[in-house]
Amino acid sequence: MNTLEHFDWNHSFFDLGPDYYQAKSPDPVAAPYLIDGNPEAAALIGLDSAEFARKEFVEYFSGNLPLPGAQPLAMDYSGHQFGMYNPRLGDGRGLLLGAAGNGSGRPWDVYLKGCGPTRFARGFDGRATLRASIREYLGGEAVHGLGIPTTRSLAVIGIGELVYRETPQPGALLVRLSDTHVRFGSFENFHYTNRPEAVTRLADFVIQHHYPELANEANNYQLLFRSVMLKTALLIAHWQSVGFIHGVMNTDNMTLTGATFDYGPFGFMDRFNPDFTPNHTDGRGRYAFGRQAEIGHWNLAKLGETLTHLIAPEVITEELEQYQPAFNRIYNELMGQKLGLEILDSEFTTLVGILFHILYQNQVDYTLFFRNLSAFPEEVPAALRQGFDNPKDLDSWLDMYRKLIEREDPDLDERTDAMNRVNPRFILRNYLLERAIDKALKQTDYSEVERLRILLQDPYNDRPEIFSRYGIDPEVYAAATPESHIEMRLSCSA
Ligand code: AMP
Ligand code: MG
Repeated sequence: MNTLEHFDWNHSFFDLGPDYYQAKSPDPVAAPYLIDGNPEAAALIGLDSAEFARKEFVEYFSGNLPLPGAQPLAMDYSGHQFGMYNPRLGDGRGLLLGAAGNGSGRPWDVYLKGCGPTRFARGFDGRATLRASIREYLGGEAVHGLGIPTTRSLAVIGIGELVYRETPQPGALLVRLSDTHVRFGSFENFHYTNRPEAVTRLADFVIQHHYPELANEANNYQLLFRSVMLKTALLIAHWQSVGFIHGVMNTDNMTLTGATFDYGPFGFMDRFNPDFTPNHTDGRGRYAFGRQAEIGHWNLAKLGETLTHLIAPEVITEELEQYQPAFNRIYNELMGQKLGLEILDSEFTTLVGILFHILYQNQVDYTLFFRNLSAFPEEVPAALRQGFDNPKDLDSWLDMYRKLIEREDPDLDERTDAMNRVNPRFILRNYLLERAIDKALKQTDYSEVERLRILLQDPYNDRPEIFSRYGIDPEVYAAATPESHIEMRLSCSA
């Protein structure tokens, strides 16, 4: 186990040289304190979780003491935001400290978000609110708990200073882990400034560290692009299957490894509504739930444009044509698992299509519907029926569904268990998250942040011993979102 002073640091990104970043230390803060530390993430970098309790933990990660062995840097990147190219982005308020591991598997990038302005700050303060930091902290852990690739959260640290948004708010910073911080926008930055050799070096870096199996292939750049495309399709298919809405799928928020990255105004679907986006500033719904797959393709096309000196444009086009079929295949498999069906033929596709139609028409809670469905066909739980304004819609759909179950003739108990392993009982409903943030802000009580972290690390099961230790009443946390909190929207800066 590592202590704070003894990490096995790796600085391969730093070694790319100053074209790629600004070297800079985090700015000190007034009075840092730990809001929550996550032992699961600590284990990923081999950090003894007892280290959270040392006062040096917050001193090192807030920037008040230099963290031994770290080489902090702000990465340069650009990107398309809401479809428009922005040449000047970059880490305005975040620093990559280096990568650290636990001796098995790849090391994780250790990154501070909210640690003071860098040369990419464009006049902003370089800080983050406690509210946004808690949102990202729990968002990452909730998505991980669902088995979806994502950044992880090591800790949220309050800084003891106010930051000024619409109103003054307590500031905080997030210690985030990610398999990479190289984004589509990192490639765009060098491409649009006519530095193709820098794009090539970055592609080589990504192959070396994230796709080493491609290193000796003759068409390695084409295979890299294909791999990123498939990982992106896999990621977004998973989002769709659990009702996750990213909210800001700009190209600077897409990693080369296909991980969920940058939790701003994200959300989980309450009532099924493909037009919903939790992002208040996205008036046209560019990043609405039902458009995420298509946006993934758009973003990949932008990545492809940066590689035209390495891959012939027509080859990029051919590769991109494989995106939608790949997405559909993965998505169908995931929907099959959710419905406990193995035969994914045209009848299955019809069944799914009608299901989404009636869920939308009846404004049914997406998560609860699938969870309750695992009791069928032995039972039609009352909660399943209650979700429907028009129960006839449900009954006629269940008749179709029953026929497809019968033709497969599964072991029903096994089927129920398998469905419960993919249909979560608990999700990070926005109102639960807001309640945890409210408690933190108004009562300086961080217990609800911890409770949600514990709950969402395993969203599929009731764990009576752990729940009683942390005071978690599962019925409360599994309940539908109250009417007053349905479809809450947030602004990017909230
Ligand atoms: P995001 O919405 O977090 O993806 O950020 C978009 C861009 O704005 C990135 O270049 C960030 O580094 C930058 N940014 C956002 N908030 C701040 C801030 N408070 N100070 C400096 N830069 C910021
Ligand atoms: Mg971002």
